[in-house]
Amino acid sequence: MKKLKKNRIVVLLIATIFLVGASFFVINKERKDNILKAQTNLKDQEELKVETDKKKQLEEEAKKEELKNKQEQLKLEKIKALKEDPKQQMAVKGIGKSKNIPILMYHSIDYEKGNELRIPKDKFREQMKYLKDNGYTPLSLDELYSHMVNGTSVPEKPIVITLDDGYSDNYTNAYPVLREFGFKATVFVITNTVEGGGSYLNAEQIKEMDKNGIDMESHTVSHPRLNELSYDKQMSEMKESKEYLEKLLNKDINYIAYPYGNFNENTLKAVEEIGYKMAVSTKSGLAAKSDGIYKLHRIYISNNYDMEKFKRLVNGK
Ligand SMILES: [Zn+2]
Repeated sequence: MKKLKKNRIVVLLIATIFLVGASFFVINKERKDNILKAQTNLKDQEELKVETDKKKQLEEEAKKEELKNKQEQLKLEKIKALKEDPKQQMAVKGIGKSKNIPILMYHSIDYEKGNELRIPKDKFREQMKYLKDNGYTPLSLDELYSHMVNGTSVPEKPIVITLDDGYSDNYTNAYPVLREFGFKATVFVITNTVEGGGSYLNAEQIKEMDKNGIDMESHTVSHPRLNELSYDKQMSEMKESKEYLEKLLNKDINYIAYPYGNFNENTLKAVEEIGYKMAVSTKSGLAAKSDGIYKLHRIYISNNYDMEKFKRLVNGK
Protein backbone atom coordinates (compact mmCIF):
# COMPACT_ATOMS: atom_id res chain seq x y z
CA MET A 1 0.00 0.00 0.00
CA LYS A 2 2.72 2.32 0.98
CA LYS A 3 4.72 1.41 -2.14
CA LEU A 4 1.75 2.05 -4.38
CA LYS A 5 1.34 5.52 -2.96
CA LYS A 6 5.00 6.18 -3.50
CA ASN A 7 4.73 5.05 -7.15
CA ARG A 8 1.76 7.35 -7.72
CA ILE A 9 3.67 10.26 -6.32
CA VAL A 10 6.61 9.50 -8.62
CA VAL A 11 4.30 9.26 -11.64
CA LEU A 12 2.65 12.50 -10.70
CA LEU A 13 6.02 14.16 -10.23
CA ILE A 14 7.23 12.93 -13.62
CA ALA A 15 4.01 14.09 -15.25
CA THR A 16 4.33 17.47 -13.61
CA ILE A 17 7.96 17.83 -14.70
CA PHE A 18 6.96 16.84 -18.24
CA LEU A 19 4.11 19.28 -18.31
CA VAL A 20 6.24 22.11 -16.94
CA GLY A 21 8.96 21.26 -19.44
CA ALA A 22 6.50 21.15 -22.32
CA SER A 23 4.99 24.49 -21.38
CA PHE A 24 8.48 26.00 -21.13
CA PHE A 25 9.22 24.65 -24.57
CA VAL A 26 6.06 26.09 -26.02
CA ILE A 27 6.45 29.47 -24.33
CA ASN A 28 10.07 29.68 -25.33
CA LYS A 29 9.30 28.82 -28.93
CA GLU A 30 6.59 31.44 -29.06
CA ARG A 31 8.97 33.99 -27.62
CA LYS A 32 11.63 33.08 -30.14
CA ASP A 33 9.08 33.31 -32.93
CA ASN A 34 7.98 36.70 -31.72
CA ILE A 35 11.54 37.97 -31.55
CA LEU A 36 12.19 36.60 -35.02
CA LYS A 37 9.01 38.22 -36.24
CA ALA A 38 9.95 41.50 -34.66
CA GLN A 39 13.40 41.27 -36.14
CA THR A 40 11.95 40.47 -39.53
CA ASN A 41 9.58 43.39 -39.20
CA LEU A 42 12.41 45.67 -38.26
CA LYS A 43 14.46 44.38 -41.14
CA ASP A 44 11.55 44.85 -43.50
CA GLN A 45 11.07 48.36 -42.24
CA GLU A 46 14.74 49.07 -42.58
CA GLU A 47 14.78 47.69 -46.07
CA LEU A 48 11.74 49.74 -46.91
CA LYS A 49 13.43 52.81 -45.51
CA VAL A 50 16.60 52.14 -47.48
CA GLU A 51 14.54 51.67 -50.57
CA THR A 52 12.57 54.89 -50.00
CA ASP A 53 15.79 56.79 -49.39
CA LYS A 54 17.25 55.39 -52.56
CA LYS A 55 14.15 56.38 -54.48
CA LYS A 56 14.28 59.88 -53.03
CA GLN A 57 17.93 60.20 -53.92
CA LEU A 58 17.25 59.07 -57.46
CA GLU A 59 14.38 61.52 -57.77
CA GLU A 60 16.56 64.31 -56.48
CA GLU A 61 19.30 63.39 -58.89
CA ALA A 62 16.80 63.38 -61.74
CA LYS A 63 15.55 66.80 -60.68
CA LYS A 64 19.09 68.15 -60.53
CA GLU A 65 19.82 66.74 -63.95
CA GLU A 66 16.67 68.34 -65.33
CA LEU A 67 17.57 71.73 -63.83
CA LYS A 68 21.08 71.44 -65.22
CA ASN A 69 19.73 70.66 -68.65
CA LYS A 70 17.33 73.58 -68.45
CA GLN A 71 20.11 75.95 -67.43
CA GLU A 72 22.33 74.60 -70.17
CA GLN A 73 19.57 75.15 -72.69
CA LEU A 74 18.93 78.71 -71.51
CA LYS A 75 22.63 79.42 -71.74
CA LEU A 76 22.75 78.04 -75.27
CA GLU A 77 19.72 80.10 -76.25
CA LYS A 78 21.31 83.22 -74.79
CA ILE A 79 24.57 82.59 -76.63
CA LYS A 80 22.62 82.01 -79.81
CA ALA A 81 20.71 85.27 -79.34
CA LEU A 82 23.96 87.10 -78.66
CA LYS A 83 25.58 85.69 -81.77
CA GLU A 84 22.62 86.74 -83.86
CA ASP A 85 22.28 90.22 -82.43
CA PRO A 86 25.43 92.15 -81.50
CA LYS A 87 23.26 95.00 -80.22
CA GLN A 88 21.64 92.65 -77.73
CA GLN A 89 25.13 91.48 -76.78
CA MET A 90 26.08 95.01 -75.81
CA ALA A 91 22.83 95.44 -73.92
CA VAL A 92 23.36 92.29 -71.89
CA LYS A 93 26.89 93.34 -71.08
CA GLY A 94 25.72 96.79 -70.08
CA ILE A 95 23.07 95.69 -67.60
CA GLY A 96 23.53 97.28 -64.22
CA LYS A 97 26.31 99.54 -65.40
CA SER A 98 26.05 102.95 -66.96
CA LYS A 99 28.62 105.37 -68.25
CA ASN A 100 29.02 108.91 -66.99
CA ILE A 101 28.05 111.00 -69.98
CA PRO A 102 28.65 114.69 -70.77
CA ILE A 103 25.44 116.68 -71.25
CA LEU A 104 26.40 119.97 -72.86
CA MET A 105 24.30 122.99 -71.85
CA TYR A 106 23.88 125.80 -74.35
CA HIS A 107 21.41 128.69 -74.44
CA SER A 108 21.40 131.16 -77.31
CA ILE A 109 23.41 130.45 -80.45
CA ASP A 110 23.97 134.02 -81.56
CA TYR A 111 26.73 136.46 -80.79
CA GLU A 112 26.11 139.29 -78.37
CA LYS A 113 28.95 141.39 -77.07
CA GLY A 114 29.67 140.80 -73.41
CA ASN A 115 27.13 137.98 -73.02
CA GLU A 116 28.92 134.73 -72.32
CA LEU A 117 25.63 132.78 -72.48
CA ARG A 118 25.44 133.46 -76.21
CA ILE A 119 27.67 131.38 -78.49
CA PRO A 120 28.24 132.67 -82.06
CA LYS A 121 27.08 130.29 -84.78
CA ASP A 122 30.65 129.78 -86.12
CA LYS A 123 31.95 128.82 -82.72
CA PHE A 124 29.04 126.44 -82.19
CA ARG A 125 29.77 124.86 -85.57
CA GLU A 126 33.46 124.48 -84.70
CA GLN A 127 32.51 122.69 -81.49
CA MET A 128 30.06 120.38 -83.26
CA LYS A 129 32.67 119.64 -85.92
CA TYR A 130 35.14 118.68 -83.21
CA LEU A 131 32.58 116.21 -81.82
CA LYS A 132 31.95 114.77 -85.29
CA ASP A 133 35.65 114.47 -86.17
CA ASN A 134 36.45 112.83 -82.86
CA GLY A 135 33.83 110.11 -82.94
CA TYR A 136 31.28 111.51 -80.49
CA THR A 137 27.67 110.36 -80.91
CA PRO A 138 24.98 112.73 -79.60
CA LEU A 139 22.16 110.88 -77.82
CA SER A 140 18.52 111.81 -77.40
CA LEU A 141 17.25 111.99 -73.81
CA ASP A 142 15.29 108.79 -74.46
CA GLU A 143 18.56 107.07 -75.27
CA LEU A 144 20.28 108.57 -72.23
CA TYR A 145 17.39 107.49 -69.99
CA SER A 146 17.37 104.01 -71.44
CA HIS A 147 21.10 103.69 -70.83
CA MET A 148 20.95 105.07 -67.29
CA VAL A 149 17.93 103.06 -66.19
CA ASN A 150 17.92 99.89 -68.32
CA GLY A 151 21.60 99.63 -69.18
CA THR A 152 20.89 99.83 -72.91
CA SER A 153 24.12 100.06 -74.86
CA VAL A 154 25.49 103.40 -76.05
CA PRO A 155 28.22 104.13 -78.59
CA GLU A 156 31.78 104.42 -77.34
CA LYS A 157 31.79 108.22 -77.03
CA PRO A 158 28.26 109.31 -76.14
CA ILE A 159 27.35 112.95 -75.54
CA VAL A 160 24.10 114.88 -75.09
CA ILE A 161 23.53 118.35 -76.55
CA THR A 162 20.94 120.54 -74.78
CA LEU A 163 19.83 124.13 -75.35
CA ASP A 164 17.86 125.95 -72.65
CA ASP A 165 15.05 128.52 -72.95
CA GLY A 166 14.07 127.95 -76.60
CA TYR A 167 15.53 131.01 -78.34
CA SER A 168 14.55 131.50 -81.97
CA ASP A 169 18.25 131.43 -82.91
CA ASN A 170 18.14 127.74 -81.98
CA TYR A 171 16.04 127.40 -85.14
CA THR A 172 17.94 129.83 -87.35
CA ASN A 173 21.52 129.08 -86.20
CA ALA A 174 21.80 125.84 -84.20
CA TYR A 175 19.32 123.73 -86.18
CA PRO A 176 21.17 123.98 -89.57
CA VAL A 177 24.49 123.06 -87.92
CA LEU A 178 22.96 120.12 -86.04
CA ARG A 179 21.37 118.91 -89.28
CA GLU A 180 24.66 119.30 -91.15
CA PHE A 181 26.32 116.84 -88.77
CA GLY A 182 23.25 114.65 -88.32
CA PHE A 183 23.24 115.38 -84.59
CA LYS A 184 20.40 114.81 -82.16
CA ALA A 185 19.81 117.54 -79.56
CA THR A 186 17.25 118.66 -76.99
CA VAL A 187 15.71 122.12 -76.52
CA PHE A 188 14.11 122.92 -73.14
CA VAL A 189 11.22 125.26 -73.89
CA ILE A 190 9.67 127.88 -71.55
CA THR A 191 6.09 127.33 -72.62
CA ASN A 192 4.64 130.81 -71.95
CA THR A 193 7.09 132.24 -74.50
CA VAL A 194 5.82 130.10 -77.38
CA GLU A 195 2.92 132.34 -78.28
CA GLY A 196 4.71 135.53 -77.27
CA GLY A 197 6.87 135.81 -80.39
CA GLY A 198 10.03 137.90 -80.11
CA SER A 199 13.30 136.13 -79.58
CA TYR A 200 11.72 132.78 -78.73
CA LEU A 201 10.80 129.78 -80.89
CA ASN A 202 7.26 129.79 -82.23
CA ALA A 203 4.95 126.77 -82.38
CA GLU A 204 5.75 125.98 -86.03
CA GLN A 205 9.51 126.04 -85.45
CA ILE A 206 9.11 123.84 -82.37
CA LYS A 207 7.03 121.32 -84.30
CA GLU A 208 9.43 121.23 -87.24
CA MET A 209 12.55 120.77 -85.11
CA ASP A 210 10.87 118.13 -82.96
CA LYS A 211 10.04 116.11 -86.06
CA ASN A 212 13.66 116.31 -87.25
CA GLY A 213 15.74 115.01 -84.38
CA ILE A 214 15.67 118.07 -82.12
CA ASP A 215 13.65 116.86 -79.15
CA MET A 216 11.50 119.49 -77.42
CA GLU A 217 11.15 119.12 -73.65
CA SER A 218 10.00 121.20 -70.70
CA HIS A 219 11.68 124.16 -69.00
CA THR A 220 8.54 125.08 -66.97
CA VAL A 221 5.84 127.59 -67.87
CA SER A 222 7.45 130.84 -66.77
CA HIS A 223 11.08 130.09 -65.82
CA PRO A 224 10.79 130.69 -62.05
CA ARG A 225 13.23 129.70 -59.34
CA LEU A 226 11.36 126.54 -58.35
CA ASN A 227 12.97 126.30 -54.93
CA GLU A 228 11.34 129.62 -53.96
CA LEU A 229 7.82 128.41 -54.81
CA SER A 230 5.24 126.48 -52.80
CA TYR A 231 4.74 122.83 -53.63
CA ASP A 232 1.48 123.56 -55.47
CA LYS A 233 2.99 126.36 -57.55
CA GLN A 234 5.93 124.12 -58.46
CA MET A 235 3.43 121.44 -59.48
CA SER A 236 1.55 123.77 -61.81
CA GLU A 237 4.76 125.19 -63.39
CA MET A 238 6.02 121.72 -64.25
CA LYS A 239 2.68 120.05 -65.01
CA GLU A 240 1.16 122.75 -67.23
CA SER A 241 4.31 123.07 -69.35
CA LYS A 242 4.32 119.29 -69.83
CA GLU A 243 0.67 119.29 -70.88
CA TYR A 244 1.14 122.25 -73.22
CA LEU A 245 3.97 120.60 -75.13
CA GLU A 246 2.22 117.22 -75.17
CA LYS A 247 -0.77 118.84 -76.85
CA LEU A 248 1.35 120.84 -79.28
CA LEU A 249 3.62 117.94 -80.29
CA ASN A 250 1.28 115.00 -79.77
CA LYS A 251 3.89 113.04 -77.81
CA ASP A 252 4.82 112.33 -74.19
CA ILE A 253 7.00 114.93 -72.52
CA ASN A 254 9.24 113.01 -70.12
CA TYR A 255 12.10 115.35 -69.35
CA ILE A 256 12.60 118.73 -67.73
CA ALA A 257 15.42 121.17 -67.02
CA TYR A 258 15.03 123.20 -63.80
CA PRO A 259 15.36 126.94 -64.54
CA TYR A 260 18.67 128.28 -63.12
CA GLY A 261 19.25 124.68 -62.02
CA ASN A 262 17.37 125.46 -58.82
CA PHE A 263 15.36 122.78 -57.04
CA ASN A 264 14.52 121.57 -53.55
CA GLU A 265 12.97 118.48 -51.94
CA ASN A 266 9.48 119.55 -53.06
CA THR A 267 10.69 119.84 -56.66
CA LEU A 268 12.02 116.29 -56.61
CA LYS A 269 8.75 115.04 -55.13
CA ALA A 270 6.58 116.97 -57.60
CA VAL A 271 8.60 116.15 -60.70
CA GLU A 272 8.20 112.44 -60.05
CA GLU A 273 4.54 112.72 -59.10
CA ILE A 274 3.76 114.59 -62.34
CA GLY A 275 5.31 111.74 -64.30
CA TYR A 276 8.60 113.08 -65.61
CA LYS A 277 11.11 110.28 -66.06
CA MET A 278 14.32 112.28 -65.74
CA ALA A 279 15.50 115.83 -65.04
CA VAL A 280 18.66 117.88 -65.45
CA SER A 281 20.12 120.62 -63.29
CA THR A 282 22.93 123.08 -64.02
CA LYS A 283 25.32 121.56 -61.51
CA SER A 284 28.62 121.08 -63.32
CA GLY A 285 29.94 117.66 -64.24
CA LEU A 286 29.26 114.50 -66.20
CA ALA A 287 25.77 113.00 -65.88
CA ALA A 288 26.04 110.04 -63.52
CA LYS A 289 23.24 107.71 -62.47
CA SER A 290 24.60 107.86 -58.94
CA ASP A 291 23.68 111.57 -58.70
CA GLY A 292 20.01 110.62 -59.11
CA ILE A 293 17.96 110.47 -62.26
CA TYR A 294 16.13 113.72 -61.30
CA LYS A 295 19.24 115.85 -60.77
CA LEU A 296 21.70 114.99 -63.49
CA HIS A 297 24.65 117.32 -63.89
CA ARG A 298 25.49 119.17 -67.09
CA ILE A 299 28.46 120.95 -68.59
CA TYR A 300 27.88 124.65 -69.17
CA ILE A 301 29.44 125.98 -72.36
CA SER A 302 30.38 129.64 -72.06
CA ASN A 303 31.45 131.92 -74.89
CA ASN A 304 34.51 132.66 -72.74
CA TYR A 305 35.83 129.13 -73.29
CA ASP A 306 38.30 128.47 -76.10
CA MET A 307 38.50 125.19 -78.06
CA GLU A 308 41.08 123.72 -75.69
CA LYS A 309 38.78 124.26 -72.73
CA PHE A 310 35.86 122.81 -74.73
CA LYS A 311 37.90 119.68 -75.54
CA ARG A 312 38.88 119.22 -71.90
CA LEU A 313 35.26 119.57 -70.78
CA VAL A 314 33.79 117.05 -73.26
CA ASN A 315 36.53 114.64 -72.30
CA GLY A 316 35.38 114.85 -68.68
CA LYS A 317 38.37 116.86 -67.39
ZN1 LIG B 1 16.70 128.60 -68.52
